[in-house]
Amino acid sequence: MLGVRAGRAFDGERAVPGGALVLVDDGRIVGVEPGGAPAPEGCEVLEAPGGTVLPGLVDAHVHLCADGTDGSLDRIEEPGEDAMAAIIGQSLRRHLAAGVTTVRDLGDRRFAVLDWRSSAQRGVYPAVVAAGPPITSVGGHCANMGGAAAGEDQLRRAVQQRAERGVDVVKVMVSGGFATAGTQVMLCQFTLGELQVVVGEAHAAGLPVTAHAHGLPAVHMAMAAGVDGIEHCSFLTDKGVAQSADDLARLAEAATAVCPTLGLAGALVPTPNAAALLAKLGLTMEQVTEMNKRRVGQMHAAGVRVVSGSDGGIAAAKPHGLLPVSVAFLAEGGVSTAAALASATSLATAACGLGDRKGRLRVGYDADLLVVDGDPVADIAALAQPAAVFAGGRRPAAAA
Ligand SMILES: [Zn+2]
Repeated sequence: MLGVRAGRAFDGERAVPGGALVLVDDGRIVGVEPGGAPAPEGCEVLEAPGGTVLPGLVDAHVHLCADGTDGSLDRIEEPGEDAMAAIIGQSLRRHLAAGVTTVRDLGDRRFAVLDWRSSAQRGVYPAVVAAGPPITSVGGHCANMGGAAAGEDQLRRAVQQRAERGVDVVKVMVSGGFATAGTQVMLCQFTLGELQVVVGEAHAAGLPVTAHAHGLPAVHMAMAAGVDGIEHCSFLTDKGVAQSADDLARLAEAATAVCPTLGLAGALVPTPNAAALLAKLGLTMEQVTEMNKRRVGQMHAAGVRVVSGSDGGIAAAKPHGLLPVSVAFLAEGGVSTAAALASATSLATAACGLGDRKGRLRVGYDADLLVVDGDPVADIAALAQPAAVFAGGRRPAAAA
């Protein structure tokens, strides 16, 4: 048995007064005791009197096949199988070093992530929730990942293929994307009827659907089709952001998980699609970033289920392991630090279908733990100071 004692604790929903002694055995949490409780005899205890213990973080939107350099999505077809497996392993180690113990991969290249997951891996890695290649239109956003489909029959077959491959969630590109030249972020890539086929087929197979949507029509179409989650959810129009109270109320009512993919490490180099939109709107990237923080704060205030995700891997300013910054952006947008932390723990595991096993300090849950220096409830920046990370009760050698 192993113990982790910290002067402060956050249990996935709220701060625990007096901290906690978390007991771990065989990869599971077997006790959550008051901070001052004696450790069982013979139990080795990691002591962090000035630190905080909390559930390992969840990044609900990553691209493990992308190596965190500008243009990595454009080059996604280049690495061979072994090189791609190495990129995926490296991406995961970066997440773990930042305290992320679960990732949801929403941009696989031809099932490379699922292949990686099913092959025997040595070492300690985050748990991987996988979508396979995003379903997209022919020539559409991220079509180079191998998920293009046209018409209801192909879309139905695409969902069935993913179910057969063992995905955990279906990702569908409802609008074009900033990262794919030639696609239109304001326009829908499918009809409502086609999207309903994807959602119906996925739900029949027991799989949730999350939809990439930037333009307002795509957000509305995703909502109308009954998707379980929306990525980015940008509410974009040619005149700017049109995020209405009415739409937020509907998202809250439907309990749709919205992953706004906030967070930047340095200046994001605009892709040609993004540069064109910025020019049209007369805005700088910095202005859009500040606008996005405020808009997600409003979303949260309206009761929308906001989950943390980074889009890690797609650019130099979007590296793997960015999640603590994504959570800080939520707080900067007006979300309370406790709610921001919940969005990256209990709320995110629920959105990933793992809410009964991960994302809380609770007996019986997986021993995915993060110890940070300081108190992230008082100062969210402390989240970026990992002192120890455990995934399934094991510490990675490199991040220890
Ligand atoms: Zn993405």
